[in-house]
Amino acid sequence: MNIHEYQAKEIFRKYGIPIPPGEVATTPEEAEAIARKFATTVVVKAQVHAGGRGKAGGVKLARTPEDAKIIAAQILKLTIKGLPVKRVLVTPAAEIASEAYVGIIVDRASKRPVLMASPAGGIDIEEVAAKTPDKILRHPVDPRYGLQAYEAMQLAFFLYSDMKQVRAAAKILQQLYKAFFENGGSLAEINPLVTTPTGEIVALDAKMVIDDNELDRRPDIAALRDESSEDPSEVEARKASLTFIKLDGNVGCVVNGAGLAMATMDLVKYYGGEPANFLDIGGSSNPEKVVAALRIITSDPSVKAILFNIFGGITRTDDVANGIVTAIKQNPLKVPLVIRLTGTNEEIALKILKDNGLSAMTDMDEAVKKAVALATGRKVA
Ligand code: GDP
Ligand code: MN
Repeated sequence: MNIHEYQAKEIFRKYGIPIPPGEVATTPEEAEAIARKFATTVVVKAQVHAGGRGKAGGVKLARTPEDAKIIAAQILKLTIKGLPVKRVLVTPAAEIASEAYVGIIVDRASKRPVLMASPAGGIDIEEVAAKTPDKILRHPVDPRYGLQAYEAMQLAFFLYSDMKQVRAAAKILQQLYKAFFENGGSLAEINPLVTTPTGEIVALDAKMVIDDNELDRRPDIAALRDESSEDPSEVEARKASLTFIKLDGNVGCVVNGAGLAMATMDLVKYYGGEPANFLDIGGSSNPEKVVAALRIITSDPSVKAILFNIFGGITRTDDVANGIVTAIKQNPLKVPLVIRLTGTNEEIALKILKDNGLSAMTDMDEAVKKAVALATGRKVA
C-alpha cells in the first residue's frame, strides 16, 4: 500500500527524524492560509502516489501567500503519471547546500532489508543508479538486530565528512530503519536528505510503501489508505477479495489460483499475446466474485478478448458458470470471451453455459491460443 508524503513524514517525525513542519490543503485558499501562517517562503507539493513530482511541475516554491494560492491552483489541476492531484502539502522552504539519498527496501536476493545511501541524491537517483552505481552504498541489515550504531556510522561516512553531520546522519538512518521495520514497510525513503547552509541535516521528502500483509495487524496504518488516489479497478478488486494487478496487454484473464494465473500468463505470452491483468478469483467459487471480476476487466478499454481459465477443485465450475451468465446478463460483453473450464461439476457448468448460448473448452492450450488470436487478430499456431 502506498501512502502520501505527508503521511510518511508524520511517521518519520514520530521516530525523531528532522522534518520541517507542514500542512495539507485541498484548495488554493487553504494553501494561501497555511503559507500566511508559516510567514516565510513555502514549498507547495503535490500529494500523489508517484515519484518525479518535481520534474512534473508538482513541487514549487512560493515566496508569498498570494503566490502559494496561485501555485496551489496550478498544481491542483495537474495529473502526474495518470494520478490527479487532490491535495498539496505546504511546508516552509529549506535552503539546500547538498542533497543526499537514503532508502530501505526489502531485497529478495539477500532476504533482508537493504539500506542504500548516496551522496548524489535529489531528483535523479535512478540515473545515478544506472550510470554511477558506485555512488550508492548498499548494506543488508540483519532484521534480528536492526541497524546497529556502527553500521549506521559506516553508511553516514559515505555521505558526509563533517563529524557532526556524520553523527546526525547515522542517527537518522537508525530512526529510518526503525520506522520502516515497526510499521511494516516494504520501502522507506528520504530523497533528498539535505544539508542546509548552516550545516543542519533535514529530510525534505519522504516515501513509504507498506507491505499489504502487515495491514491486518496495524489498523492505524491501514487507515492511512487513500482510495481516491488508487486505481479504481484495484480498489474494487480488493473489496471483492480478488487478487488483481493491472498489466499493459490486451488479453483479460480470469483464473482461479495464483499458480494457474501465472501459468496462464506465461502461456498467453508464449503464444505471442500480452495479458491485460493478473486476476485470481481465489479458491472459493462465489458467483459474485466472478461478476466483480468481469466488471473490472470489461471496464478496461484496452482489453480485446477475455479468457477464463478455471480448474475446478474446491472451486465449483458450475458456480463460475453461473457467475459468467449473471455478469453477461447485467452487462453484455463487447469483446469475445473464451472459457476454459474443467474439474468439479464440469458437466453441470457446460450445461449452464450451453443453455445460455455460451460454449467452453477443456484444453488450456487451445483456449489460450484462441484468446490470443482473438485479441491480436493474428493466426496463432
Ligand atoms: P519528488 O520529485 O517527487 O521526489 O519531490 P521532492 O520532494 O523530492 O522535491 C523535488 C525537488 O524539489 C527536490 O529534490 C529539491 O531539489 C526541491 N525541493 C523540495 N523541497 C525543497 C525546499 O524546501 N527548498 C528548496 N530550495 N528546494 C526544495
Ligand atoms: Mn524526492
